[in-house]
Amino acid sequence: MKPSDRPHVIIPRAEIASIVVGLAGRISHDYRDKNPLLLGILKGSFVFMADLVRQLDFPLEVDFIRLSSYGSGTRTSGSVKVVQGLRSKVRGRHLLVVEDIVDTGITVAFLMDYLNKKKPASVKLCALLDKPSRRRVTMTIDYLGVTVPDRFLVGYGLDFGGKYRNLPDICGLEE
Ligand code: 5GP
Ligand code: MG
Repeated sequence: MKPSDRPHVIIPRAEIASIVVGLAGRISHDYRDKNPLLLGILKGSFVFMADLVRQLDFPLEVDFIRLSSYGSGTRTSGSVKVVQGLRSKVRGRHLLVVEDIVDTGITVAFLMDYLNKKKPASVKLCALLDKPSRRRVTMTIDYLGVTVPDRFLVGYGLDFGGKYRNLPDICGLEE
């Protein structure tokens, strides 16, 4: 990637906002009486999580888990580790994993397996973005925002080498 490449908008903030409202409606319908624990995968999901929970008007809790990821590159390494685990008790709880983007699926598949071993009442997945063209693990995204083509995206929490997480729109870097 050339340093001259500038982020250009692919999904504008208004469209993201309406996607989040749609997801929140479905989640509200399914979780209103379940006091769910929403589990964000750091760091990328922090912006999405913040917007999502503010559209949910019922009792819930939030926690985050940090998994090892891409480092500074644009391709997944294929092996996932828990860098910072959960503080919350998850046994018997209804868990909703909140992820920014599912690409190969390796990260989320690892996390679902890790969480299932802790005997929760249920575990489901909410992902803002899905890049199915590079999937290596089959999985169900229970609450999906939107499908995106195989492009490297930044903004709205997504980074490149630690940068661009603060962009309000979802952007591409390549022309
Ligand atoms: P997976 O394990 O599904 O291949 O990768 C999932 C993780 O890789 C996501 O949580 C995200 O952190 C990162 N990732 C996947 N695609 C992109 C992308 O287009 N842009 C950025 N910034 N990160 C991505
Ligand atoms: Mg992520």
